[in-house]
Amino acid sequence: MSNRPYADRIQSLLSVGYPDQDLRSAILNAVTDLRHLADAHKTSLKAWTYTHRWMTLKRKAFDGISVLASCETMLDVFNAHLLGYAPALVVPKFESLKAYDLPNSFTGIPCPAQTKAQVTCQDCKLCLKSDWLHSTRRVILFEAHGARGRKLAEKLVQIEVKGGN
Ligand code: SF4
Repeated sequence: MSNRPYADRIQSLLSVGYPDQDLRSAILNAVTDLRHLADAHKTSLKAWTYTHRWMTLKRKAFDGISVLASCETMLDVFNAHLLGYAPALVVPKFESLKAYDLPNSFTGIPCPAQTKAQVTCQDCKLCLKSDWLHSTRRVILFEAHGARGRKLAEKLVQIEVKGGN
């Protein structure tokens, strides 16, 4: 069994220009369906995604899925965290390939798929743990440029194809 159709559904909901209220209802419906599917199969299903609309969409709209706020600045990170989101931040270059301190007691974790050969989201699954990331002030970092940036582009495509499995 796969939750791929539900991950696709949530991904496509996020990419369509719905008004926030309609999008919130559509996401909640998708999550409810996902839960029913999991209950029917007596199993747990997990999905994760990212949103640029964290400023207007309440985190609760994604109850049941791990969702990270796509951030472009540390101010975004701070505000997204205040709104209950675990942030993901694109940086020009990693300061270290290991976790490192960021302002305001945040800790940046360079995406392992960018820093380690052979690691995939299926191995890592950090982005499935948005509650933990949020409560521990962890920020997933993506490097935008250079070879790792190119790998990011591949990775984001992979997330779209495989995310939520
Ligand atoms: S490898 Fe995938 S799950 Fe892990 S931090 Fe990077 S994007 Fe998130």
